[in-house]
Amino acid sequence: MATLAGKSAIVTGASRGIGAAIAKRLAKEGAAVAITYSSSPDRAQAVVDGIVKDGGKAIAIKADAADQAAVREAVQKAAKEFGKIDILVNNAGVLALGTIADYPADDFERALSINVKSVFTAVQEALRHMPDGGRIITIGSVNSERMPFQGGSIYALTKGAVASFTKGLARDLGERKITVNNIQPGPVDTEANPASGAFAEVMLGLLAMKRYAHADEIAAMTAYLAGPEAGYITGASLLIDGGFAA
Ligand code: NDP
Repeated sequence: MATLAGKSAIVTGASRGIGAAIAKRLAKEGAAVAITYSSSPDRAQAVVDGIVKDGGKAIAIKADAADQAAVREAVQKAAKEFGKIDILVNNAGVLALGTIADYPADDFERALSINVKSVFTAVQEALRHMPDGGRIITIGSVNSERMPFQGGSIYALTKGAVASFTKGLARDLGERKITVNNIQPGPVDTEANPASGAFAEVMLGLLAMKRYAHADEIAAMTAYLAGPEAGYITGASLLIDGGFAA
């Protein structure tokens, strides 16, 4: 049975990687899905075309997550298209790596804008269009709990911010039966972190499961949290990390 029939969702940063897998999975469960992207219109359109070809409903909206006005507008467009937003998935994010001593202030600001401020903006706008019982899901990172290598302090800061934001939001929105959760993946095989990349050997040494996650595995957890069976899970940061934090 389609668990999300009649629901509408927006997934940020979904032209590829984890976001694309989430968009496809939510659509497979019956949701109408809006995806955002910043620099890959063709790939975003390919995700939309794939969903439509399979009988689903989807649109792509250009919105750089570093541009808060664009994020707000994207959420408004999705709400206008579908009439409401039941599910917000904050996925757009950048891996911000570098040593603190010479980390450029502009890069820090950009990481904050994309990984943190855009989550605030999307949540604030989505809530204006979200019926009671809605779902807010953010893709954080296991690195908010464990940062076992050097150069990841800024990334960990941003992912820690969304983990604690999730807790406060859950308190604020419980009366509306809106759940708020933060999925914390370990290494997932995407263009941002390829399983065949130079960093893979270090990663594999840190894992209990000696492999990277597939984006589809993160999408499956997202679909569960978005679905009707997950109404009592809120304020949680849920690891899906192959034992990275164990
Ligand atoms: P990818 O780099 O593979 O994909 C990123 C997606 O986000 C693309 O669709 C890209 O679209 C979009 N995007 C990037 N920058 C922006 C922006 N400024 N505005 C809007 N969209 C943007 O990343 P992943 O799929 O690996 O990561 C997705 C999320 O998962 C991130 O939040 C990341 O921190 C998190 N994560 C990833 C892990 C991993 O190992 N891969 C592990 C833990 C967490 P476009 O091409 O148009 O820019």
